[in-house]
Amino acid sequence: MVRLVVLCSTCLFLAAALLAGGPADSVSERARRLHFSSIVLDTHDDTTQRFFTRDFDLGKRNPTGHIDIPRMREGGLNAIFFSIWIDGRTLGPPAIQQALDQIDAVRQNVQTYSKDLALAQTAAEVRRAHDQGKIAVLMGIEGGHMLGNDLRMVRIYRSLGVRYMTLSHFYNDEWADSSTDKPLHNGLTDYGKDIVREMNRQGMLVDISHVSDKTFYDALAVSKAPLIASHSSCRALCDHPRNMTDDMIKALAAKGGVIQINYEKSFLDQAYKDARDKQSGGVVQVFDQIKKACGNDQNCLGERMAQEEKQATAEGKLPHVSWTRIIDHIDHAVKLVGADHVGLGSDFDGASMPDGMDDVTHLPQITDALLKKNYSERDIRKILGENTLRVLAAAEQVSREMQAGR
Ligand SMILES: [Zn+2]
Repeated sequence: MVRLVVLCSTCLFLAAALLAGGPADSVSERARRLHFSSIVLDTHDDTTQRFFTRDFDLGKRNPTGHIDIPRMREGGLNAIFFSIWIDGRTLGPPAIQQALDQIDAVRQNVQTYSKDLALAQTAAEVRRAHDQGKIAVLMGIEGGHMLGNDLRMVRIYRSLGVRYMTLSHFYNDEWADSSTDKPLHNGLTDYGKDIVREMNRQGMLVDISHVSDKTFYDALAVSKAPLIASHSSCRALCDHPRNMTDDMIKALAAKGGVIQINYEKSFLDQAYKDARDKQSGGVVQVFDQIKKACGNDQNCLGERMAQEEKQATAEGKLPHVSWTRIIDHIDHAVKLVGADHVGLGSDFDGASMPDGMDDVTHLPQITDALLKKNYSERDIRKILGENTLRVLAAAEQVSREMQAGR
């Protein structure tokens, strides 16, 4: 232990975690050592919405929600993509304005908490932050509607530090079909394909979570860089349009991409998803109903959705789902395409978490469960973060080649 502390500042957090109590107590010593010495990278967190409420402070331990700096430290999460998200029905200049507000809010938080956080735009910068004992902060835009139907915004967002863009959200945008809307464009339009090419050129990862199956295959055919599914799970285990079929996961992996498993209960568990659909007609309908009450207040939206879900579970209308379903989805994808193509995309602060994954402090349980399944330490490090770093680096290489005209 003493030797570890001398080696690097990051190990201070390892030591703290080894000594600390809390939710990770059931985790083995071996799992703790592995987890707290790895780069643990989560590709999708909706905490950005909370930055706009008066009573939320990223630097303090909060009694609600899933993410803040103290809890990220406790859970060993040391690289995070904060999602830039606005409702998919906001289009044009207002969509750009609101996206810029959120990018600014993320950057402001990094400045405020610069002892703990470092803005990272490349795989190398994530590693540097980790070496300095800081949490690497990255940004992803969740929905192509935030381009305002203007390809040039890809370059502007990239210059502000955004490293991925999800091509759509719940609704079709001007150039890409969504998985939860009626097909309009037969996948990606020609302009949408140009946008994917520009994303490649700028080194912005193409994220296919939320898009229709046809949009996925179109993006895969056009993109020179590997794709990510920043927060999707496996349709073979839970038949939800937001999840990927086995064929899609295979095609994604064949091109070097990564599926980052989402912890949302209705994506993890068929019984829960069916009960949810029966009760309220599915995730988009629930969202629409609550939006009527909340208007554009994103925090009201998140809180109402969480409240509604909690009440329905307490009344027995919705079944309980164990956090171990996350492991089932990881294991399914690994069996299908190998450990090089699977990662973590929790959807913390944007989704209903399964029992036992109440917040980010529970992450070491995932490492422990994978060790118990006899995964190698090397493979676990890949799933925790190394695979996503590999894809980031691959996209950087494609960008350099395209900009050099090769
Ligand atoms: Zn999402």
